[in-house]
Amino acid sequence: MNKSVRKAVIAGNWKMNKTPKEAKELLSAAAPLVKDADCEVIACVPFVDLQTAIETTQGTNIKIGAENCHWAESGAFTGEISAVMLKEMGVEYVVLGHSERRQYFGETDETVNKRTKAALASGLKPIVCVGELLWERDCNITEEVIARQIKLDLWDVTEEELKNVIIAYEPVWAIGTGKTATAEQAQEVCAFIRKTLAQLYTPAAAQGVTIQYGGSMNDSNADELLSKEDVDGGLIGGASLVAEKFVAIVKAASK
Ligand code: PEP
Repeated sequence: MNKSVRKAVIAGNWKMNKTPKEAKELLSAAAPLVKDADCEVIACVPFVDLQTAIETTQGTNIKIGAENCHWAESGAFTGEISAVMLKEMGVEYVVLGHSERRQYFGETDETVNKRTKAALASGLKPIVCVGELLWERDCNITEEVIARQIKLDLWDVTEEELKNVIIAYEPVWAIGTGKTATAEQAQEVCAFIRKTLAQLYTPAAAQGVTIQYGGSMNDSNADELLSKEDVDGGLIGGASLVAEKFVAIVKAASK
């Protein structure tokens, strides 16, 4: 992390876990323990937990995010939720292009781009996820894959809008597997993402973008991952479901 030039951000991605009652318990336990955090703290929660999460974190420094949004403002999209709806209820962030959405729900770079544009237009801050498959890493095309995702997912996003975008580098092989990228691997790709942003925008704009690492980050490996210059925080799945583990990662990012 280089906190002198950009914000450190620790975000939990709860995936399809926690009922509203459980959400209240988890957030009530975590909030007093992160009140002095020297980083942004976000909980991205299932749609049905959003209202409870917003109410429970009122007056605390935990911000609330959703786990996806549709690109249209409204219309015949049964089962979908728009960015406008999320914004109106007080949601601030939204995870987009998570590998589980890409893998199980047909998400493509084109739809990630449409969702990103819609989120930004509504005043939500997107956490845009990119990452290579193990096969792609083994074939030595990690940089090609990441550059393509960044270019397509951020197509038509202006330099001004980029200030509200967080990128999460999540190697697909490290998500929910217990296999973490080494701190060196995480740094290498996060630095490559920044270089790609510098080419697409300007070096100054790229320096300001928060780039998180995600993939089995936990209370034991957070310190090392976060010690790297271009790793500005974490998107945390499994470990965000246990208050003590999530708080320990927030503390690591607050050093
Ligand atoms: C995630 O869901 O974004 C994630 C990184 O999961 P985990 O920490 O469980 O690997």
